[in-house]
Formats: sequence, C-alpha cells, structure tokens
Amino acid sequence: MDREDPGPASPFYPVIVLANTANQPRARPSSGIPSPAVRSAAERRELLKAVYEEARGCVRCQLHQTRTTVVFGNGNANADLMFVGEAPGANEDRLGLPFVGQAGKLLDKLLAEIGLERKDVFVANTLKCRPPDNRDPHPGEIEACNEYLRSQVDLIEPTVICTLGNFATKLLRADSTGISRLHGREEVRIIGPRAVRLYPLYHPAAALYTPSMLEALRADFNRIPELLALGPPEQPSVLEVPELEEGDSIVVEQLPTSPEPEHAAQLGLF
Ligand code: SF4
Repeated sequence: MDREDPGPASPFYPVIVLANTANQPRARPSSGIPSPAVRSAAERRELLKAVYEEARGCVRCQLHQTRTTVVFGNGNANADLMFVGEAPGANEDRLGLPFVGQAGKLLDKLLAEIGLERKDVFVANTLKCRPPDNRDPHPGEIEACNEYLRSQVDLIEPTVICTLGNFATKLLRADSTGISRLHGREEVRIIGPRAVRLYPLYHPAAALYTPSMLEALRADFNRIPELLALGPPEQPSVLEVPELEEGDSIVVEQLPTSPEPEHAAQLGLF
C-alpha cells in the first residue's frame, strides 16, 4: 500500500489528461444495452471534478479529523485502465496525490515496462483520507468512502480495474478471498451498472520489500496489455424497455442540474 511508503516523492501528474480520443465518446460494447449517458472525455472530467469537490469537504468518517488533504486520485478521466490501492500514506496526505513515494515509483516503472505512463491511467484508493499512524482501514471507513470510489468507476468507465492489495480486492470483489490466491487472475465483475475486467495485483508497496512478490507483480503486470486488448466485457442488459402502444405516454422526471462549471474550473488538481 502506498501509505506504507516512506520514500521521497516521485514525479507525478497533477492534471487529468484527456486521452488521445480527445472529446469523443468511447465506443460501447456491441452487446447489451449501452449506458444512457455516453459521455465525452470532457464530460467525465467535469463530473469527476464535482465528485472531488464533494470529497474534499467530506466528514463522513473520523478520518476527516486527522487528514491534511483528501487524496481523491488522479490521472486520465477517460482511461481504460484504472488502479485502486488502499489508502493515502504520509507523502500522499501531504501532497494530495496517490502513489507519490517509492511504491509510486515502482508503479511508474512497471507501467513504463508495458508502454504506459501515469497520465494514461487513473489511480485512486479505497480510502480518500490517510488513516493515522498508517493503520489498516476500518470497515466503517471503507463503507463510508465507498461511494466516492463507485462514482469514480461509474464516471471513468474503465475496461480493466487493477486492485492493488487485499483491501481494494476484497472490496470490489465483495469477497474475503486474499490477494495471494487471486493475484493475476482476471475475472469479469459487475461494478455499479457495468461489467469490468477485474484484475487483482499485489500492492507495489508490499512488492518493494519481497523479491518474489515483485517478480509475481511484474509477471501479472505484463498481462495488462493483453486484457486491455480484449476490450470491454459483455455488458449486462439491465434495462427492459417496454414497447409503447398508441395512446401510451411517458413521464420524464426532472434531472438534477449539472455542477457549477466556474466553481469546478477553479480546481488545481485536474
Ligand atoms: S476517508 Fe472517505 S468517507 Fe472518510 S472522511 Fe475521507 S473522504 Fe470522507
């Protein structure tokens, strides 16, 4: 976990970079019913900013009392590949960015080995605030913070989610099986309204100190391009649309208004 990482900060990317696809909506899988909101990269970015705004004032759990900064996550709002770690560490808490110490350097190195950079992916944690003294997250904290992670997944719509370590893996699989049994085994999981390729990996911070774990992490990492090349998994058909007959009417509910664009534009993180 990056919160165990005592090392100096590595280069980071304080800006969510819009992907090569610019503002084009991403292709949807041909099977299943597409999301009713096919978002452009710019729309994802703006919606993420709104969630970040909410998170940075969050007092849902006790960790708000001891944090320096909410570490929301950073990277590419339009990424196909997302990483989910455990919780911010001291460096992350100070800088407001995930994976900025030695574990972050290792993550960058492993990404480079498969031809990717941090700006190509989105990196977040299960908890957005640092637990004091780097203790393990409490179940109530994970539950309180889960909505932010789910919103990130819903808005970014990654094809592949790599969970880093036990906490993220257990949370997103909703199962207590540990990472040593699951690492390197991809599976299709429904997270929120979508199916994703979930790919559990050892946490880079743990691999820093255990050569055999680093070897396994590197071998698992090397399969990420293959998983990305598969594209999105088949999506669940969650919407049954009844056929309308003459005389039927549809009531459209008033949708909530979008966040204030000027307010979001003031953010320095994205
Ligand atoms: S850890 Fe999550 S739920 Fe707890 S205060 Fe921070 S943002 Fe809110």
